[in-house]
Order: sequence, then structure tokens, then C-alpha cells
Amino acid sequence: MRWLPATTALSYRPDSLGATDGNPRLARNTPFARTPHAPVRAHPCLCSLHLHSHSHPHPHPHPHPPYVLPEGTPMEHLTDPVSRRRALTLAGGAVAATALTQTGTAFGASAAATSADAIVVGHGLAGLVATAELAAAGRKVLLLDQEPETNLGGQAFWSFGGLFFVDSVEQGLMGVNDSQELAWQDWLGTAGFDRGVDDPLGQDYWGYKWAESYVDFASGEKRSWLAGLGMQWFPMVGWAERGGGLADGHGNSVPRFHVTWGTGPAVVEPFEKKVRAAVADGLVTFKHRHRVDEIVRTNGVVTGVRGAVLEASSAARGKASSRTVVSSFELSAEVVIVTSGGIGANHDLVRANWPARLGTAPKSMITGVPAHVDGRMLGITEKAGGRIVNPDRMWHYTEGIKNYDPIWANHGIRILPGPSSMWFDATGKRFSAPDMPGYDTLHTLKSITGSGHDYSWFVTTQKILAKEFALSGSEQNPDLTNKDIWMLLSRIWQTPEPLERFKKYGEDFIVAETLSELVRGMNKLTGTSLVDLAALQRQIEARDREIDNVYSKDAQVMGIRNALSYTGDVLSRTASAHKILDSSAGPLIAVRLNVLTRKTLGGLQTDLSGRVLDAAGAPIPGLYAAGEVAGFGGGGVHGYRSLEGTFLGGCLFSGRQAGRAAAAATA
Ligand SMILES: Cc1cc2nc3c(=O)[nH]c(=O)nc-3n(C[C@H](O)[C@H](O)[C@H](O)COP(=O)(O)OP(=O)(O)OC[C@H]3O[C@@H](n4cnc5c(N)ncnc54)[C@H](O)[C@@H]3O)c2cc1C
Repeated sequence: MRWLPATTALSYRPDSLGATDGNPRLARNTPFARTPHAPVRAHPCLCSLHLHSHSHPHPHPHPHPPYVLPEGTPMEHLTDPVSRRRALTLAGGAVAATALTQTGTAFGASAAATSADAIVVGHGLAGLVATAELAAAGRKVLLLDQEPETNLGGQAFWSFGGLFFVDSVEQGLMGVNDSQELAWQDWLGTAGFDRGVDDPLGQDYWGYKWAESYVDFASGEKRSWLAGLGMQWFPMVGWAERGGGLADGHGNSVPRFHVTWGTGPAVVEPFEKKVRAAVADGLVTFKHRHRVDEIVRTNGVVTGVRGAVLEASSAARGKASSRTVVSSFELSAEVVIVTSGGIGANHDLVRANWPARLGTAPKSMITGVPAHVDGRMLGITEKAGGRIVNPDRMWHYTEGIKNYDPIWANHGIRILPGPSSMWFDATGKRFSAPDMPGYDTLHTLKSITGSGHDYSWFVTTQKILAKEFALSGSEQNPDLTNKDIWMLLSRIWQTPEPLERFKKYGEDFIVAETLSELVRGMNKLTGTSLVDLAALQRQIEARDREIDNVYSKDAQVMGIRNALSYTGDVLSRTASAHKILDSSAGPLIAVRLNVLTRKTLGGLQTDLSGRVLDAAGAPIPGLYAAGEVAGFGGGGVHGYRSLEGTFLGGCLFSGRQAGRAAAAATA
């Protein structure tokens, strides 16, 4: 067992997974709405992925008979709607019996439960989208969350609202030529799918199919669908993850990061509105402070959930809420959709699943997500038979700074860097390409862990900081979040206030007029003498000499020139090329960069309808998953890496797929 509740011993090592080699294909012909069924057959490699509550991999091959669920119930029997309803009725009887022996709130909650068509676990973006789809089809939904209602929207509320679109109106305005073919080339080069793309039991089988569908979606319907819901985007399209240096390798060939006007809250808003309207219509019932601890299966069919009712909480959004249990509950419905998010706030799980290919996990990391991103539901769903794939694939950032005014524990903020700051390891040795700001997140992460230290350094100028540093997160961008055009325009002549505050109060920032003063500050901050003034000076001066010509052999300087041929970067994200030691661009600034945990790229394997699959590749009747818990679709739509802006989009798309499929299944 891998993703277990945090209190359980973690013995799983992801690298022990039997990854099968596949051939990622460039040909694409999967229609967006197709919902193929995986041929189901026994597979010896599944023994290490067996899903029951073992704390160690199976010692012997343990193939499941075809079309048979773990409990031994034939699939064709369970997928028959009449049988499924019978199972649900049985479960409903059990709930009623339990309820009769209970008193208080939990009893009331259970009694209301039996009339719902669907239970959605998690009120984040994926859960809201799925709920909205179910309600639009007239289904009755119980929307559960362990947090209070103040946290509606989950992580998406805190997000920057960056969305990956292909060939958009905004790209057109910025003179960007994009196409579905180019985006698919980039997606494949970035994902590096290599775990059984052509094998129905491969870990990448469904992730690859989701990727095909998702790139279709992002190239087509996605923007018009969201625009139809009232969303708008800032016209300066950002160029994230510029890649590893090869056209068919990692990275975005062109800018595709579209910041939503109103940032994360504006992504949540249309779906929150729909769900609240459905609450008013009596179709959706909120069940906050309901923490799911178990998914109930009756004769092989998922019939509901059990868990604990937590005490009422007045914790502000994003703050950890109490885990004191006041009673228990059991709720039943025809389908359960798990939309519980990833593992980013649970450093135990992050470490337990950290892959050897990224070196050793840093001893010290900061946290880029609220405490509710605890990963518990992964272990709980695995226990109910769901298959987890690609648990070793994660997306953590290398440019994390400690929040001087934290909302959640160990709160870190990510700098979204432009291309010009110089990047050094903890000892002051400059990284080589592609470890440059905004190019290749995981390659740089590996270089940092390989340095033997937990952190690295940007050395930069005030001129670069003012133009190029953006802080990810809705609360760090009041102009964009509050749709304040004047405040936004003031970025032209002044450094944004949140950035200045970090410079002033953030413990990771050192500001100095001279390089020797800067180096003294860097060593003082870390309590070491790791950075040598002469060595740092030599590297900076060498780089500065490359500025004298409009061409260069320095890959980063070439990258700056390249960025300056893109209008969006010239206008808002790239300072004109200048020498770091040019005092008119100063003062000098060093920023200690910490590793910041954020996204989970693997998760519950699902088919294109969002149905959770078991170890034999068969859908578990009545169980669906969407959003980060499902690796944003299929258990890993991203493969190993992301092109950025693909997480919110993955929640929107997979939440919609699962919601629609669950609505059809409960018709
Ligand atoms: C600061 C920040 C900036 C970001 N910026 C971007 C961006 O610009 N672009 C982008 O694409 N992505 C971005 N992301 C990532 C994106 O926001 C998330 O990946 C996405 O919102 C996850 O949504 P979700 O619905 O899958 O899960 P979540 O939002 O994590 O919601 C899951 C919910 O499930 C609940 N839950 C969990 N377990 C249980 C249980 N056992 N019982 C009951 N309830 C449970 C949780 O309390 C939570 O409310 C950002 C994230 C952060 C934090």
C-alpha cells in the first residue's frame, strides 16, 4: 500500500513499481468524448500494486481472474443497473439500521443521505465542477468536505488562475502562432510517458488517453466554454517552462499561460454560483465538516461513505481547522465521486513517494498548499479497490520563499521568474542550462538535490526583480485578483507592493549595494561560508561580458534575447538585457530559494469517464474520481512534467467528465 493515512507506516517505495516501456505516439485519433473500456486481463506485474491493506508488496504473482472484482463478484452482474440499485438498497437498509441506533447530528445527516443520487467528496474545483454537472442533469448530490464552508473552492481559490490554452485569442493578440499539433508535440516531449502507453494495464495507458483528450479540449472547447461562463483573461500570455533545449523535448515552444482576470477566485466563481443555485433548488446539500474515512462497498458496488463529523470551526480560509470528532456518519448514494486533491501538504507522503531519479528529498521544504491537501483519500480509495498509479510523479517548485505573513503552516510562495536572474547552487556555483529561471523545473530540482544542499540562490538586480518577479497566488496579486486596472498599470512604474514587502520582511531576501556586502549577507543568512566572493564575482563578470554583443554563447543570455523578441515578455516579463553589476540597475538582490511542495501528478487511475479502475483494469461500480486525486485525469495526464496552467484545467476537464458520466449512470 502506498498513499496511506499519515498515521500509517509507509513502507512503499515507488521505484519498485514495474514500469513497462511504451512508445509514446505522435499520431492522435482519440475522439474527445470516447469512453473506451480497458480490456481486462490478469497481469503478473500487478502483484506489487495489489490494493488491499497489505503494508508490503505481494511476494507472489497474484493475478485476478478476468472480470472479477476483489470480492469475487462478477463484473457483468455489478454493472447491471438493477443489480447496482439492489446493492444500494441493501446498503441503504444498513444505513437506516445504523441510523436507528444513533442520535444527534450524525443521525440526521445519515437519514437525509439515502435520497441522494451522488456523493462528491471534496468541494475544491474538481468537486464543484462535477457537482454542477450532476445538478444540471437534475441529480441530487451530497457535497462533502472536511473543511468548513469558508474554504469552498479548495486550492483553486488560492491559485494564480493560470490556464493553458492553445491557439487562443490572447495568443493571437500577442502575435503567437500556436496549434494543436505544436501543443501535442510539447505535451509528449514534456510528459515522457514511458509506462505502458499501449498496454491496457500500463500505468500510462489512461494518462496518455487523457492527455490526448485534454490537448484537444485546450485547443478547442475549453476557452469558449469558460468564456461563456463569464471568465476573461489578461492579454499578456505568460511563457512558462521554456524547456530543455530541444524542439521535441520538454517545454512550451510558445507562451500558453493565460492568467484569469480575477485569478483563482474567478475560476471558482462560476461553478460556485451554479452549485449554490442548486443548493437553493434543493438538488445539492452541503455537508461540511464531514471527513470521509471509508468508502463503503456492498457486494462489490460502491454504495456510500462513512466517516467522522468534525466539530464546527470558525477557522479562516486556508487556516488549519480542528480535527476533533463529534460524531460519525454514514451516507449512501448510487455513485461516489472522489475529488479530494493531492498530497502536497503531507511531507511524510511526499518523502515516502519521492523518486530516486530526483535525488534525495531535501531535509527542509516549505509548503505551497493548505493543510487540507493531506492525501488521506488516496489511501482510503485504494483500500476500496482503486488502483493508484505513478505515485512517484510530483511537481514541486524550486523557487519557493517563506511567507513572512503565513496563512498555513510552513507557508511558502512560489516566485514565477522571468528569464534574467542568475541561478547558483548553495555554494555559489552557477547552474548550467537548462537550469535557468522558468525553463525546466524538475531538471533544476534534481540539480539542487544533487548539490547536497536544500536550497539555491537567485542573484539579481532591482531592475530584474521589478519587471520579472511574479508571486504565484491570488492573495499576492491584489491588482489582478480584485480586477483593479489602475493598480495593475502601476506595475509599469513601480515594483508591486507585495513584492516590495517580501523584499523588506521576507527572511530569504538580501539587498546590498555591493557584491561583497551581498555575499556577506548570503553567508550570514545560512550560517555558513559556502559562498566565495571571488568565485561569485568571476562568474557574474563573465556573464556580464556576454551582454556587450547582441549575440552570445551563454545559453541564459541567448534566452533573454529570445524572450525580448516576444511582445508579451517585452511588455511585462523581461527586463532589457543589462549587466548584473551595473550599479544603475541596482541595488543587488540575492534570494534564497527553497523547495516548495505543490502538485501531485500521479493518483487514482480512471478511464475517460472518470470511473476508478481496479488492479485488473476494471471500473469499480459506482466509484469515480477527478482532479488532483486522479492525477488530473487517468492517474497522470501530465506524465513526468507539466507545461503549467494545466492543473486547474485538468480539474475543470476531469470534473466535467466525471460529473457528466455519473449523471448518465444515475439516469
Ligand atoms: C497557491 C497556488 C497557486 C496555484 N496556481 C495554479 C495556476 O496558476 N494554474 C494551475 O493550473 N494550477 C494552479 N494551482 C494548482 C490548482 O489550484 C490545484 O491543483 C487544484 O485547485 C486542485 O483542485 P482539486 O479540486 O483537485 O483539489 P483541492 O482544491 O485540494 O480540494 C480537495 C478538497 O477535498 C477535501 N478533502 C480531502 N480529503 C477529504 C476527506 N477525507 N473527507 C472530506 N473532504 C476531503 C479537502 O478538504 C479539499 O477541500 C495552484 C495551487 C496553489 C495552492
